[in-house]
Amino acid sequence: MILLPSSYKCHIQEYAQDAMAYVRHYGRPDLFITFTCNPAWDEIQQLLLPGQSQGDRHDITTDEIDDVVCVEIPRADVDKDLHAVIIKNEIYGPCGAPNSNSPCMVDGKCSKKYHRAFTANTITGDDGYPRYMRRSTEDGGNSLAVHMQNGVINVDNRWVVPY
Ligand SMILES: [Zn+2]
Repeated sequence: MILLPSSYKCHIQEYAQDAMAYVRHYGRPDLFITFTCNPAWDEIQQLLLPGQSQGDRHDITTDEIDDVVCVEIPRADVDKDLHAVIIKNEIYGPCGAPNSNSPCMVDGKCSKKYHRAFTANTITGDDGYPRYMRRSTEDGGNSLAVHMQNGVINVDNRWVVPY
C-alpha cells in the first residue's frame, strides 16, 4: 500500500474521474501509456536543491513535457483538424462571470480552478504539479469567440483542458 499526501489523492481522484469521463464519451482507449522514470537516478538527484524531492521538479523529470501535453488552442492554419477537435472538446466552460450558473461554480468560484493563469513556459508549481505553458494572445497564444446565451466572449488558452 502506498500512502499519499491528501492533496495528491485529490488530484489522483480528479484525474481518475476525468479519465472515466473520457471513456464514457469516447469509448475504451486502444492504448493507455504511462512513463515512469526512477527518481533515484543520479541525474535527477544531483539537480535537486536541498529539501526537494523529484516531485518538486518537473523540469528535471519531465523536461520534454511540452512535447506530449498541450493546453493551448492550436492554430487552424497549422492543423485544421486538431484545431476543430480541441475547440469542440477541450475548452472548459466557460464559467465564472460569463456563466455563473455553471455546475462547477461553488461559492462564486470555479471548483475546477478555471480559468487558469497564463504561463509563458511550463513550470513546476508550489504544489509540485506542473503549470503548463498557456500563452496569452500578446505572447503568441490563440483565442476564439464563443457564443454564450448572454453574448459572445473571447476564450483564450486559460480555458483549455490539457490534452
Ligand atoms: Zn468552472
